[in-house]
Amino acid sequence: MTHQLSVLVQTPAHSAISGPLTYRSESILAPGTLVRVPLGNRETLGVVWAHELGLQSAVGSDKVRGIISVLDAIAPLGERWQQLVTFAADYYQRSAGEVALAALPPQLRDLSPLQLTRHLQRNAKRASTEAWTSVEASPSPELSAEQQQALAAFHTQPGPFLLFGATGSGKTEVYLQCVAQLLAGDPRAQAMVMVPEINLTPQLEARFVARFAPPYGPQAVVAMHSGMTPAQRLKAWLAAHSGVARIVLGTRMAVFASMPGLRLIVVDEEHDPSYKQQEGARYSARDLAVYRGRLDGAKVLLGSATPSLESWHHSRPVSEGGRYVRLEMPSRIGALAALPQVRRVDMNHQPKRAVFSPPLLDAIIQRAERGEQSMILLNRRGYAPVLNCGACDWKSQCPHCSAFRVFHKIDRTLRCHHCGFAERVPRACPDCGNLDLTTVGRGTERLEEHLVELLVDVRRPSQERLRVARIDADTTRLKGALESQLAQVHAGDVDVLVGTQMIAKGHDFRRITLVAAINPDGALFSSDFRAGERLFSLLMQAAGRAGRDASISGGAEMWIQTFHPKHPLFEALKRHDYPAFAAQQLVEREQAGLPPFSFQALVRAEARTQEVAQAFLAAASAAVSETAKQAQVTLYPPVPMSMQRVANVERAQMLVESRSRVALQRFLAAWHTVLHATRSLPQAKGLIRWSIDVDPLAI
Ligand code: ADP
Ligand code: ZN
Ligand code: ZN
Repeated sequence: MTHQLSVLVQTPAHSAISGPLTYRSESILAPGTLVRVPLGNRETLGVVWAHELGLQSAVGSDKVRGIISVLDAIAPLGERWQQLVTFAADYYQRSAGEVALAALPPQLRDLSPLQLTRHLQRNAKRASTEAWTSVEASPSPELSAEQQQALAAFHTQPGPFLLFGATGSGKTEVYLQCVAQLLAGDPRAQAMVMVPEINLTPQLEARFVARFAPPYGPQAVVAMHSGMTPAQRLKAWLAAHSGVARIVLGTRMAVFASMPGLRLIVVDEEHDPSYKQQEGARYSARDLAVYRGRLDGAKVLLGSATPSLESWHHSRPVSEGGRYVRLEMPSRIGALAALPQVRRVDMNHQPKRAVFSPPLLDAIIQRAERGEQSMILLNRRGYAPVLNCGACDWKSQCPHCSAFRVFHKIDRTLRCHHCGFAERVPRACPDCGNLDLTTVGRGTERLEEHLVELLVDVRRPSQERLRVARIDADTTRLKGALESQLAQVHAGDVDVLVGTQMIAKGHDFRRITLVAAINPDGALFSSDFRAGERLFSLLMQAAGRAGRDASISGGAEMWIQTFHPKHPLFEALKRHDYPAFAAQQLVEREQAGLPPFSFQALVRAEARTQEVAQAFLAAASAAVSETAKQAQVTLYPPVPMSMQRVANVERAQMLVESRSRVALQRFLAAWHTVLHATRSLPQAKGLIRWSIDVDPLAI
């Protein structure tokens, strides 16, 4: 007898086929089973989905194609995993097939049942013969009183928890302890630990391996992130799916890992924007972690020194409607001493055009002469953001984008950071032939060059010259480059480190005693309502890099060069007072009806012309204006995106907002079909694509 099965396959986004497809099978297969099926004229990986759909299919059974093979060497994906995929697809307005297949390791897509079986056998054999280079066991330190209290609260309540702990307060140690207790008490339990960018924090992985490989074996800890090879990713995924791996340490993609024994989810630096996927299904791994915790009956622990305002708001007292339990660890671990002192330099009183104010430069020199390190932050890479002709006012506009091409001196190119378009720097102005082109503004490359000049006569205690180094996306393009550059900083080879936000996060730089933000003012008056929140957390994180070695006396400092020294953001920063900053921001957000007091989605449209992109949005909006009103959903008019044109594509967006998350969700689900149909209207001719971003991070 043949059966009909519903199978999820990877279908193109917003295509006519968005649900599961029907296939014939000789045997009934449990939902979650991986199969290989024909799709068009190719063969593809599919996941058997709930049965009923297939049986209701109107397609005559003679037209239904048969599945090709079953990957039965591994257990079907669990019911809760399927529920997670379904939820994520619905919530973020994508097809379940797209979400499910994207959640599986890419190499799995190409394996036949036989190849998979061989793969599993090889893994098993290797594991049994692997020369087990034992890691030195790292004993857990005696916990501080604050750590003990946080752990006690964690163990006696269901959560979810927000661990609000200063940088260096020992949050990671709390995570380690939570995981340790879980694994010790339940031989099948698994834990997921998510971090923003794993390659920036290799120390964290090392700490987990040192703590858990000795008692649980070398396979107990696996990593999951995009920097791994396809083979490594498959191996890690299989280990998690089979339960062999007890801890999955990964970036946002790990939230979809198949973990049948999942009992704990930790989200470190939960405020970090990299938890939000920025293409395809634009999910927030942090938010999905909370949802998944509920599905799986796993405890959820979010941690940060500067929580997202959403999570902070959720952790207000229960009496005020809070849903998360807030655990607080305000003090740094004993010897790490006090948090750095924040010093604001009023640039209104400094020499005009000075990049480094004289007092900051003095402070950097003093540190270097004592053999201490400084770190200088500037969030703009390249040499200069614009090249300009003084004679005719030509500027290095990108011909394909609404942006300037950045001057990179090292290879004398003008490069667009949006579409990648690069050209040799012209010898003369392309418009008027003037030979005297000038640079406007400065990026990290120029800052580094400038510092080298300023510090040329300064000597280390050993009388050697100073070394200035730079870390940003340009210097770390090659594999392994970041690691080796970080190693040089740790080894003390570098006296002054210049870089973008890349250097502000996570690193445990022992000898850095001065951190400076050269020009952070831009974010104070940005049109993006989250810019202030991001700046505050970046500066707090950066400040947290300083003064981690208590053997260095003298106290660490964070310097802010600003034209607005009295700005409340800097006042709160000076006191290391996140709660005050958050309270002030939340008042503003509530008054303006912004998240977390409302819920938003952005619909984006891309076309060859701005008119078409906006016309598509306007038509889709007009079709549902009544429905929206009734649903208490506000539709804002279509506008050009702030980066209006990228790679010759015009972009427009439209904001959708509601006070109720449920209302917004219902509205979006219904609107989806309308958007789809709008595509074939004459006004939308020339539309390239459209997409929905639910809970967008940047507007
Ligand atoms: P956070 O994650 O909050 O920034 P960490 O967990 O990295 O802080 O802790 C900062 C430093 O303090 C680390 O070097 C860690 O090993 C150390 N540490 C953490 N807890 C303790 C403790 N109870 N006793 C001694 N050292 C600790
Ligand atoms: Zn010119
Ligand atoms: Zn461009």
